[in-house]
Amino acid sequence: MSQVFDVLVIGAGPAGYIASIRAAQLGFNVACIEKWRAPNGELALGGTCLNVGCIPSKALLASSETFEDIQEHAGAHGISVKDARIDIAKMLARKDSIVSKMTKGIEFLFRKNKITWLKGHGKFVSADDGSYRVEVVGESGSELVEARHVIIATGSKARHLPGIAVDQHLISDNEGALNFDSVPPRLGVIGAGVIGLELGSVWRRLGSDVTLLEGASSFLGACDESVSKEAFKLFTRQGLKFSLGVQIGEVKTLTKGKKAVVEVHYVDTAGAAQVLECDRLIVSVGRIPNTDGLALDAVGLATDERGFIPVDEHCQTRLPGVYAIGDVVRGPMLAHKGEDEGVLVAERIAGQKPHIDYNCIPWVIYTHPEIAWVGQNEQQLKAAGRDYRTGQFPFMANGRALGMNSPDGFVKVLADAKTDEILGVHIISAGASDLIAEAAVAMEFKASSEDIARVSHPHPSLSEVMREAALATDKRALNM
Ligand code: FAD
Repeated sequence: MSQVFDVLVIGAGPAGYIASIRAAQLGFNVACIEKWRAPNGELALGGTCLNVGCIPSKALLASSETFEDIQEHAGAHGISVKDARIDIAKMLARKDSIVSKMTKGIEFLFRKNKITWLKGHGKFVSADDGSYRVEVVGESGSELVEARHVIIATGSKARHLPGIAVDQHLISDNEGALNFDSVPPRLGVIGAGVIGLELGSVWRRLGSDVTLLEGASSFLGACDESVSKEAFKLFTRQGLKFSLGVQIGEVKTLTKGKKAVVEVHYVDTAGAAQVLECDRLIVSVGRIPNTDGLALDAVGLATDERGFIPVDEHCQTRLPGVYAIGDVVRGPMLAHKGEDEGVLVAERIAGQKPHIDYNCIPWVIYTHPEIAWVGQNEQQLKAAGRDYRTGQFPFMANGRALGMNSPDGFVKVLADAKTDEILGVHIISAGASDLIAEAAVAMEFKASSEDIARVSHPHPSLSEVMREAALATDKRALNM
């Protein structure tokens, strides 16, 4: 006899655990299957995001920023510190304790909402008369569970490159790069995307000489061009070294003297053969959807050619009652996008009619300065032949930014030339991840740049730059 639930969720990353909580809030009897094991061997909720993604990376970013601030910027405030040193073991322990607090927090939320955590690997077995049977294979054997509604939230995994063996020591993906036990003197990074930039920045601030090799000939192609240009200038000034438009060849590990090193052979953009020798290498070339061992075919589902589970705009698969959300489906691989889809699906199962406007989902890169945007960029508006106006305002002219010693960057607002509706907002600055929320709210409400310009913004604050950029779309910036 199998256990029967109203809603069965496979995967407890941000998409799956939020779907579970919302479904339980709506009165359903919910079970969530999760198999993740923390390095200490314990099973853990939270998925990539909490265990090896968003949360640990931001903890390390904060530690490395504090270290750099003390070394490089304290002097500007008249503070002198001699011999600042970083204890890597302590820094990693701090990160691990934050991760553990967060994952245990989800266990608490599961108990509070009476969600059953089925510990193990879930795989489809059969579909019968609108009900789905799933096998959970755990430590102490396997059990069958059944539900009329199944939400697949199995996430993604790091993409690896053929012929490059990731050992999480000399050659790492995001998991190993969060756990280096010492600062590598020379760090190579294949891929100058979000994860490569964030993790490269962490180790550069702690003392590594960081070189990023990127296959694309443009830098941060998804960003507004003005932002990627500014970012390239600032990151280069900080000491990150970039080679764009390269073709990666053989990657070898060898011993030189008593030391193991990595050699990355590549062809540069001019067609010349090059070798990068480094002490550690991070491979950060994107993520791929994860449906390993899920046996989708047992119920007549299949992935598309890129490995995603096809869904409609409400995250419904081709099967009634079976949904897929988060990184395993189309759209940005972002934790908050998965969370939004989790809420959407739970509410649709309850008969409600929620909707997600994917154009209003903000994107963030947690470098320093941070980069954040929502909506369309200038290249996209030009390609679509849209008539738009631009307003841009620099943080250099903002008192709070100067007080914080963070004068770099700007806010750029793009608004429809006739209606003034905000079409996109692009920020590069300290605190951009928080500032972008105002723009996302404005765009959800179809606000005009005039609306933002009319709203009182606290003084002095970084948010005043948003207002000034909105005013600048009409050439009315006040402090410029
Ligand atoms: P996941 O978080 O991948 O969770 C899927 C879960 O399903 C896993 O726990 C897995 O064990 C489980 N699972 C899979 N198959 C099965 C099965 N068959 N049975 C049982 N369990 C299964 N995003 C942001 O928005 N902001 C950030 O700052 C950010 N930083 C990042 C930094 C790094 C280094 C990385 C790698 C990613 C980052 N991301 C960030 C992306 C973010 O982590 C993902 O978008 C998010 O985790 C996706 O959520 P998910 O629930 O879809 O999948």
